[in-house]
Amino acid sequence: MLKLSGKSVYKGVALGPVVVLRPRDQQVKRTKVEDADAEIDRLEKAGEKAMNQLAELYNKAVEEVGEASAAIFEVHQMMLEDGDYLEAIHNIIRTEKINAEYAVARTGDNFAEMFAGMDDDYMKARAADVKDISNRLIRNLMGKEDVDFNSIEPSIIVADDLSPSETVQMDKKKILAFVTVHGSSNSHTSILARMMNIPALIGVPMNLEEIHTGMQAVVDGFLGEVFFEPSEEICCRAEGRIKEELEKQQLLQNLKGKENVTLDGKKINIYANIGSVGDIGYALENDAGGIGLFRSEFLYIGRSDFPTEEEQFQAYKQAAQMMAEKKVIIRTLDIGADKQADYFNLGKEDNPAMGYRAIRICLKQTDIFKVQLRALLRAAAYGNISIMYPMITSVEEVLRIYEIVKEVQEELEKMQIPYRLPEQGIMIETPAAVMVSDELAELVDFFSIGTNDLTQYTLAIDRQNERLDDFYNPHHKAILKMIGMVVDNAHRCGKWAGICGELGADLELTEEFLRMGVDELSVSPSMVLKVRQSVRGITVFGQ
Ligand code: PEP
Ligand code: MG
Repeated sequence: MLKLSGKSVYKGVALGPVVVLRPRDQQVKRTKVEDADAEIDRLEKAGEKAMNQLAELYNKAVEEVGEASAAIFEVHQMMLEDGDYLEAIHNIIRTEKINAEYAVARTGDNFAEMFAGMDDDYMKARAADVKDISNRLIRNLMGKEDVDFNSIEPSIIVADDLSPSETVQMDKKKILAFVTVHGSSNSHTSILARMMNIPALIGVPMNLEEIHTGMQAVVDGFLGEVFFEPSEEICCRAEGRIKEELEKQQLLQNLKGKENVTLDGKKINIYANIGSVGDIGYALENDAGGIGLFRSEFLYIGRSDFPTEEEQFQAYKQAAQMMAEKKVIIRTLDIGADKQADYFNLGKEDNPAMGYRAIRICLKQTDIFKVQLRALLRAAAYGNISIMYPMITSVEEVLRIYEIVKEVQEELEKMQIPYRLPEQGIMIETPAAVMVSDELAELVDFFSIGTNDLTQYTLAIDRQNERLDDFYNPHHKAILKMIGMVVDNAHRCGKWAGICGELGADLELTEEFLRMGVDELSVSPSMVLKVRQSVRGITVFGQ
């Protein structure tokens, strides 16, 4: 038995088989080979295997998401057979007498760079595809299989680190827990684990060469411990804890249909945060009063090209219809920093958290923004959708957004496409927005406080940096004062203010939020009933 400790980002217990995920961007070593023909032979076999994998992926995608979205796998097949690409790899193997893995990696990088430098947006986006097929070839050459989530039983996912794009592509029903060597508690991967209600440990000092797929493990998110090949005693203890947790969950079920009201009659809205339409099921199961934050950027990541207006329209419309008349607040694209999609070609930045991200991309690349706005305005005709803009710092940005929205409205009208202009709000997640929240409140319909970024920017602490986790303190007086100030400024203009950052689910602060007059808390679906339980036990104006 091997026992290791880490930092828990979601409390829960899991017991089951391990699946070790290898990084998608492989570290490829350059080695000399004697026999170039043998290397080319290996390359051909890896290529045949890749063609079969892509054919399977294509068929699966046609069934699940339709032919148009599946077409990307056909594009990958064509690229794999491209004469220039293969010739470049062969040349490197023959002239330098080096291993196929290295030749593929170098060719992939060269081609990706070439595509990224092209003027045409379609060609630019192919940079991500050529990297993707090169990585697939390398994995096949190294004999490292992709994990096929269809064929595994529910498992504990072990990895060095996980990016949001990897996490979001996983089949949630197949994940019992996450255990990673790296990662920070405030990263989007941790947020996704909480959203998915999955026990997760980060910062576990594992040697991944010693951990194998198929091993058994117990993850204890309460104690922050993981046991590989656990003893019978540990397994029994884990089974007991899992049962206990289930019983607690069942008790919470009694709160379904009940009001979010304090003992002295103060009411608050409790909504859910989601990352995809697929999460709406969790929001409904947990009786969320609405969706307080739909992180729409997850529609953009984990794929190799922009989602079309139609795809987005369908997703937003479905979300609105599934939630019936309940509010669905969709945040516009908040890509950048840890949420990356290669085809955006955002480039490396020294300070990505303070970089080209979120609304800044939308205001610069209005073509991307307009596609999303068109989809949102069209979908708003089908339900109770609100739009929310992230990373706002000034009144001028909001005014510019309104100009763009106006242009989109005019376009839709000209084309006689039905739409509705819904409620529009902003995230308050920069200190600048807090300081001008009195002016912003006059312009927008609501505020939603993003405490994750607000903490990062106020305390000058990179939320991605795992070494700073101990300094990242959202309970800091500065943050609490800011929340109070934002709520007061909203109310002064007759607007509502909520919290959609992780702090909203912090039960130690529920009472304080109620006293401040916060109107809404948007939390991960698994926390909705726990927050309701907490609210129902509080007397706000008691003593
Ligand atoms: C936040 O910053 O608090 C927030 C809700 O947005 P995200 O975590 O997606 O940056
Ligand atoms: Mg944020």
